[in-house]
Amino acid sequence: MSEDAAVSEQEIRAGVRALCERFSDEYWRDVDRRSAYPREFVEALTAAGWLGALIPERYGGAGLAISQAAVILEEIQRAGANAAACHAQMYIMGTLLRHGSEEQKQQWLPEIASGRVRLQAFGVTEPDAGLDTTRIRTRARRQGDHYVISGQKIWTSRALYSDLMLLLARTSEPEESRGRWHGLSTFIVDLRQVPEEQLRIVPIETMMNHNTTEVFIDGLLVPAQNRVGEEGMGFRYILDGMNAERILIAAECVGDGRWFIERAVAHARERVVFGRPIGSNQGVAFPIAWAHARIEAADLMRRRAASLYDSGHSAAAEANMAKLLAADASWQAANVCLDTYGGAGFAREYDIERKFRETRLYQVAPVSTNMVLAFLAQNVLGLPRSY
Ligand SMILES: Cc1cc2nc3c(=O)[nH]c(=O)nc-3n(C[C@H](O)[C@H](O)[C@H](O)COP(=O)(O)OP(=O)(O)OC[C@H]3O[C@@H](n4cnc5c(N)ncnc54)[C@H](O)[C@@H]3O)c2cc1C
Repeated sequence: MSEDAAVSEQEIRAGVRALCERFSDEYWRDVDRRSAYPREFVEALTAAGWLGALIPERYGGAGLAISQAAVILEEIQRAGANAAACHAQMYIMGTLLRHGSEEQKQQWLPEIASGRVRLQAFGVTEPDAGLDTTRIRTRARRQGDHYVISGQKIWTSRALYSDLMLLLARTSEPEESRGRWHGLSTFIVDLRQVPEEQLRIVPIETMMNHNTTEVFIDGLLVPAQNRVGEEGMGFRYILDGMNAERILIAAECVGDGRWFIERAVAHARERVVFGRPIGSNQGVAFPIAWAHARIEAADLMRRRAASLYDSGHSAAAEANMAKLLAADASWQAANVCLDTYGGAGFAREYDIERKFRETRLYQVAPVSTNMVLAFLAQNVLGLPRSY
């Protein structure tokens, strides 16, 4: 990849597409069948510099903007691949970049950019708190120059394939004057140095291959110097990263949608039933056309959100709408593609059912559709708060 920050969208697309062509549908089918981690793919992306896209050049990254990083993820999904194996590195790193000390950045960012260290795991969600993150119970107590952390995380994806985990834990009880968000702190946990009795990672079997886990933490010792930013401000730091995350996920959904539409169009042209291509039936063609229109509309919103974000303006409303519209549009495109394929859509060999399972996630995680709607209702339209 060129290190020129002015690298064009076409160059990014061409570069990512060429890399993805080395990983066939059969590769992804096999990884999915074995619930394995696509290590070779992630290594190739890292070696080409794509996963360090958002890391500034002074720390060894490509110094690209969100709008450009979004194109990388979109193109991965559009190729039928699955960026879920590695996308989090792009947005988790943002917490370190925005709130870490210069020393922490010097220590970790060049290592992450070069691929020598993987920062793929993000431990926020807990079984008893769900979406209400301020209720998490994982506790970090300061003891001298360490924190001692105990608690449990759930849905910590890629923890078994990451060297570092960004962990959110409560360091103090919330103060009435500041609200429940206060008192949470973020830590970099070096998973390579942790004894098993302090931290245990247990895979969760899921409907798609996502390498997600439960993490049991018992007396985990984390050096105080690994706390990112100020004590008690961690929830704010996580929120800061959410707009970038929503834009990147929206771009992935646009990529998924385009993959479904391309497959549906090709199949509708080729498959002959009743003596003519099924695509000549409006009952087949029109849903594909609808799906295309919805994906293009979502793409416009994602571009608007990315451009606001990159120019330093508030992008919260647009980033949320982009994620909402794109996740919805990709799911509709998935259903249209499955319908177009008929029975064949259910056979593993065509990959439709795999991508169908994979794209469904984005209506629930990293944030559910209801939470996005609640944000728009409350923060954009001024309706009464529901929680
Ligand atoms: C495959 C996968 C990977 C994930 N990876 C990660 C990860 O790497 N790191 C991490 O920290 N988390 C991760 N998550 C967690 C994910 O972010 C949460 O699952 C998601 O935020 C929803 O939380 P929950 O499952 O606890 O749902 P709950 O909070 O139990 O909510 C259940 C349902 O109720 C709805 N709901 C709840 N409250 C309200 C309300 N007030 N108004 C309207 N609707 C409401 C929600 O929208 C949801 O549909 C992952 C999840 C999955 C499934």
